[in-house]
Amino acid sequence: MDDTSKNKRRIIAVLLVIALAAAAGVIMYVNRTRSYATVTFHMDTYVSYDINCPRPERAVRKMEAAVKECEELFDRFDPSSEIAKINRNAGEAVEVSEQTYVLMFNALELAKQTGGSFDPTIGALSDLWGFGDEPRIPDQDDLAECLANVGFHKVTLSRDEKGGYYVCIAKGQKLDLGAIAKGYTLNEVGFAAYKAGCREGIISLGGNVLLLGSGQDGSGYKVGVRCPDENSNSSALILRLGDTADDTVLSTSGSYERFFWEDGVRYCHIIDPFTGDCAEKDLKSVTVISTDPVHADGLSTAYYVMGIDRTLDALASGEITGVAIDRYGTIYISEDLMDKVVPDSVAEGYELEVVG
Ligand code: AMP
Ligand code: MG
Repeated sequence: MDDTSKNKRRIIAVLLVIALAAAAGVIMYVNRTRSYATVTFHMDTYVSYDINCPRPERAVRKMEAAVKECEELFDRFDPSSEIAKINRNAGEAVEVSEQTYVLMFNALELAKQTGGSFDPTIGALSDLWGFGDEPRIPDQDDLAECLANVGFHKVTLSRDEKGGYYVCIAKGQKLDLGAIAKGYTLNEVGFAAYKAGCREGIISLGGNVLLLGSGQDGSGYKVGVRCPDENSNSSALILRLGDTADDTVLSTSGSYERFFWEDGVRYCHIIDPFTGDCAEKDLKSVTVISTDPVHADGLSTAYYVMGIDRTLDALASGEITGVAIDRYGTIYISEDLMDKVVPDSVAEGYELEVVG
């Protein structure tokens, strides 16, 4: 081999090494995890992402797409949503997407499980109370009429021979999936995060929080249970969650989220499907901690409706794991959660009481 060919081979070898190093650099750069936080607004509430993963902006775009898809399907105030379509065609079977079918399936299961304290057919009652636009105390006759149409057992789900999905509500009924749609959406967000390679972070959608992974040092995340007082944005207590399970979920239902005052009484957006009443009772908030966002969301609403006695029983028996805050500032907490309370995190004016 002459000198020129030797030189050529040397140059090619050097170029190859440079190219390999550059490729490795690009791969390392792309796979480098970065922290990223952003807030968007969907489903009438804030969605906050605080994640740590490779290409986090891309991961958030994927998660946002999942949120938007759910919003378009489930927003009953949007005439083009599938829930609005079902409501317009009460009495007829309406073909829907698999997502809406699954959401409805979960809703009916939860309604059964909670003896109807959670009921997705309270739509007409919600409209009457006007929490979508102008809240007001309804006329008692109108309320009785709406109440007569509430009943999850009148909803039927079916499939046709081609595999199509159908939902049929009874004439006079209206669906309101507001109490589980966010939980369902968070579940979809969790899948989108996973597919996008995101394994670490906190995503919150209204009163629902999804934890991915167990934090940068593996010790979980500090998650606040909100003070259920009006105008308060602080925490009543802080829990350290996510250090044991892969995905942990926390869902809070509270009277402070949407309400109005009349003659000294506070009326909130959570309705008792048996009475049509939505006055705040003994509880200010119920928080359910679980690994299933749909259940956590539905159950927090249901136990808020059931009230303090039933909720404390459920916390004591382990039927739910969570926290309930009453109007006197007592924070009732499941025994299982006691070792997760961050020391000195209970806010002033609140008292912690273990149930179990
Ligand atoms: P959440 O914030 O998850 O407790 O959901 C509250 C929302 O669910 C309300 O704004 C209503 O749209 C709807 N809702 C209220 N009461 C009930 C109920 N008893 N069962 C099912 N959905 C309800
Ligand atoms: Mg809920």
